Amino acid sequence: MSQNEVIADRIEEAIGRMFYSFSEYDPKASEYSLYYNPNLYQSWFIEIYFSDIEQLDTVIGNGTCYEIHRFLSNEFDNISELKGVNRSIYFEFGNRPTNDTDYHKRHSELIEKTQRLVESNEKKDIKECHCCGHDFDKHELRGYTNNGTNAPTDGWIICPEENCNCFLTWGANYHGAEN
Ligand SMILES: [Zn+2]
Ligand SMILES: [Zn+2]
Repeated sequence: MSQNEVIADRIEEAIGRMFYSFSEYDPKASEYSLYYNPNLYQSWFIEIYFSDIEQLDTVIGNGTCYEIHRFLSNEFDNISELKGVNRSIYFEFGNRPTNDTDYHKRHSELIEKTQRLVESNEKKDIKECHCCGHDFDKHELRGYTNNGTNAPTDGWIICPEENCNCFLTWGANYHGAEN
């Protein structure tokens, strides 16, 4: 087995544990797709699908996406074969691409999106959201508080524009984007 096959296996096992852990959630994720081609980009993309845009809207708003993001990030951080392996987690609605053309098209879109996020990490003034292109000031910061009194130290960002399913995570050391 090649090193990349081992990495793919470990990522898919972690995704399997995520589906199991979140199986009682409503709505819950329906499927996933994994993208990787070292000749194109040095990062693994994990895309988690919800069946339609209403469901995706709900799970971005209510924190389910953030919980999934946190669950998977935690898993990946604790798997020795995944140390130093770049990965990005995205959420989408509909079905995963099932033919090569759609798969490659989606992979290119994810690469572009990720490149925008990486570039925007170096900028201080953000006017346009690098994830969706809408006014960044109108975006809303959300987060959980652990004990109910302290301000949240991490969470996610949502865009108020209709039908926009922009999803970004943030931490206390937030610099504009984190993925
Ligand atoms: Zn937006
Ligand atoms: Zn946005």
